[in-house]
Amino acid sequence: MNILVINCGSSSLKFQLIDAGTEEMIAKGLCERIGIPGSRLVYTPKDSGKIITEAVMKDHTDAIRMVLDSLTDAKVGVLTSLNEISAVGHRVVHGGEKFASSTVITDDVIAAIEECNALAPLHNPANLIGIQSCRELMPDVPMVAVFDTAFHQTMPEEAYLYGIPYEYYEKHQVRKYGFHGTSHAYVSAQAAKMLNKPYESLKLIVCHLGNGASVSAVKNGKCVDTSMGMTPLEGLIMGTRSGDVDPAVIEYLCKITEKSVGEVLEELNKKSGVLGLSAGFSSDFRDLEDAYLEGEENSVRALNAFTYRVVKYIGSYCAAMGGVDAICFTAGLGENSPFIREKICEYLGFWGIELDHELNVLRGKEVDVTTKESRTRVLVIPTNEELAIARETVALINN
Ligand code: AMP
Repeated sequence: MNILVINCGSSSLKFQLIDAGTEEMIAKGLCERIGIPGSRLVYTPKDSGKIITEAVMKDHTDAIRMVLDSLTDAKVGVLTSLNEISAVGHRVVHGGEKFASSTVITDDVIAAIEECNALAPLHNPANLIGIQSCRELMPDVPMVAVFDTAFHQTMPEEAYLYGIPYEYYEKHQVRKYGFHGTSHAYVSAQAAKMLNKPYESLKLIVCHLGNGASVSAVKNGKCVDTSMGMTPLEGLIMGTRSGDVDPAVIEYLCKITEKSVGEVLEELNKKSGVLGLSAGFSSDFRDLEDAYLEGEENSVRALNAFTYRVVKYIGSYCAAMGGVDAICFTAGLGENSPFIREKICEYLGFWGIELDHELNVLRGKEVDVTTKESRTRVLVIPTNEELAIARETVALINN
């Protein structure tokens, strides 16, 4: 059974074709600059190099048509016909309080996702365009929506409410939702397998550290808190996002810069984080790490602040859960940077956490990077959101 996983952005579309039996990726790719001059498809069949096709893609339907043509192409294709695609799994960013789990896509589901658009105005409309385009081109293929927010819907009220008048929650659903849920769910379940313990018996902290970054607390198999909020701007200091700031800073910045709220929010989203803290040096953690090691002061400042914020969230989630069995690192930085893991774990030595420095440099696989004596396990677990979406899709269409 082959599952096509689609992740649609406003001008891009990522896809993976996954064999659900072996859980292997058969082909993957990316359509860039959809609706903008210079659009192209980067298509990578398994065991082969990238094939780049430059062609006009005026909209997402054009892009998906190109993807399907490549997958079934006589020369570079991996399928003989589109009938070999059993289902499509769509990543959808915001499911609000309407979706606490993945769901088979129907007209009612599309209408309910549309109602969540106001909570994610940049992402949800693009996700919906991807869904509509696939329905147009593959009308008989079942489709499933997998939400970034769903895993966090188990958070208790005390974790998801903001300290603002309650009517804003009751009337307008202003609350913490959390994101990267598919990754947090996948990684925490993998952690239980690695630890060889029932998922329902564990207290886990998952640090998804990439350009966007979030931490979650997973107790007895359920998310009980997470660092991102109503939008992905809250929480950790990220590549370009500020994370937590005093909301009064926004009014103050508007006053002193004569910018609008929208302009200041744009700065908090796109010019802040480690990019802003490094005085514009870089949002890329590789650049910052190299410069840090040479003592470059902007990078030292940015990475110190980034690390400190991660440690604060780990500490608070440990207190919230009454302990922790394992801290898991995932995503671009979490998986690939021994340096950042070491910097974070240095703070946690008081708690009996001890890294094994030889294991900590291993890459690209699941590994427990702590010594036998360490009081809490530290696990590196490469995330695989596409596989998680494919698994959810199979589970739902089999029902
Ligand atoms: P993601 O958003 O999950 O793709 O993560 C992207 C971030 O991970 C970028 O800032 C990269 O610089 C960072 N990253 C990827 N590989 C490494 C590495 N080997 N060392 C440090 N950072 C890395």
